[in-house]
Parts: sequence; structure tokens; C-alpha cells
Amino acid sequence: MSEPGHLKLHPGLNPEPFSCTIDDVEEAEDGTWATLDRTFFYPSGGGQPADHGTLSDGVNELRVVNVTGKGGVRHQLEYCEAIDEMRGVDLQATIDIERRNELCRMHTAQHLISAVADEFWGGRTVGNQIRLDCTRIDLGFENRDLFDSDMLQQSVNEYVKADLPVFMDFQERGVLVQNPLVRVNMDLIPKHIDNLRVITIEGVDICPCAGTHVESTGQIGQIEIGRIRSKGAGKLRVEYTLND
Ligand SMILES: [Zn+2]
Repeated sequence: MSEPGHLKLHPGLNPEPFSCTIDDVEEAEDGTWATLDRTFFYPSGGGQPADHGTLSDGVNELRVVNVTGKGGVRHQLEYCEAIDEMRGVDLQATIDIERRNELCRMHTAQHLISAVADEFWGGRTVGNQIRLDCTRIDLGFENRDLFDSDMLQQSVNEYVKADLPVFMDFQERGVLVQNPLVRVNMDLIPKHIDNLRVITIEGVDICPCAGTHVESTGQIGQIEIGRIRSKGAGKLRVEYTLND
């Protein structure tokens, strides 16, 4: 069973190709799923879709079209007759960089939007769906009438312009709960996890997160807030796109 390697290595933009072997192939109703001896593909989760990519033995190429992390990382492969002969041999895995980079940018923008919503209006991020074209975040407010989408867009874009460092490290739960830049409810993170992977946007936000991120906010580029919709009492669904 392989662990999600991206948590420590290749966690962001331009992940490098890596060598691996296929340990196991499972034919399921929903497709062909492979377990690798090691992997840096991002498995879908936390509102962020999976990495795509390829596995190659130099002759044949398998396409990775989905990755899931439940019970060990498994890679959904487009069916190819060569799968059997590619088991157990050295392969080169290549993560689709364009897709990964776009998702890193969208996802890090979500950290900024969640931070600004919390800072200005006490907004809690209660859900999100990161996508390549248009991402949505659900925010819950005590008083949602105070929310101002122009102000949100402007503040996020100022943080983008400031090109603030974004970095990853591991921190103890006891330290995190005392830091005011940690905006998420730490009670929602399973109690048995003491050492958490944390993403820091310098001076703005500290967030336990397993996703993929850019290295500085300037790499996100300017964002544009789109449609705002009501999602029930006190809740708003905010959509945004990236300006390339
Ligand atoms: Zn994140």
C-alpha cells in the first residue's frame, strides 16, 4: 500500500517525473486501478481533484486518469493491453504539470479567500470544490449582509501582488491551536493526529492541509470573483476564476 508521497516531496508546482513499479492491479466495476510502490500523484480529497499523468516503460504508456487516497493511494488507468507486461518493471511516472499547476494556483487562492473572509467578516469556510475553470467556496457568516465581494477580490489580489512566500512544514497540534492565524476549527481534525502538515502564507494564514500549493502568492495571478449565491441561512457560495 503506497502512501501519498506529495505530502513531503513534490508538493507543488512542476512536480518532477519519478521512478516506480506497479505492485498490484485491480479490475473493478469502475475501471482498472493500480497500486504503485511509491507515488507523488495527488489523490482527490479536500475538495481538490486528483492529478493526472502517465506511467511509461519506455515503449508503452499507461494514462492515469484518476487517483484516490482511501485505504492507500490507487491510480485509475485507462485500459491498455500492455498493463500485464508492465507490472513489476521499472516505470517512469509523469504528473500532468499543466493540470497540477492550475490546481495549485486555484487551491492556494482558496486559502487566501478563506483567510480574507475570516479576517473581514468572520466567515468560516464550510466547503469548497476546486476546479480548473471555476472554483467555488461555501462560506458561513454570523451576518452575511456584511460580505462585500469587491472588497474580497481586491484584498486577495493585493496579497497576490505582494508575492508572499507560501511554505509547508509539520507542526504540533498544541502549538497550532494557540496561533491566531490558524482559522480552521482544529476540533474538526481527528484527535489522534498530533503532527500536522501545515501550509503557511506568510503573515496571512496558517492552515493544516494535505493539498498542493504554489510557492509564493504571485504565482497564483490575479483572481476574479464571479457569481455569489445564497446557500441557505447565513451561507454564501462564492465562485472565482483565475485571470491568466
Ligand atoms: Zn491547501
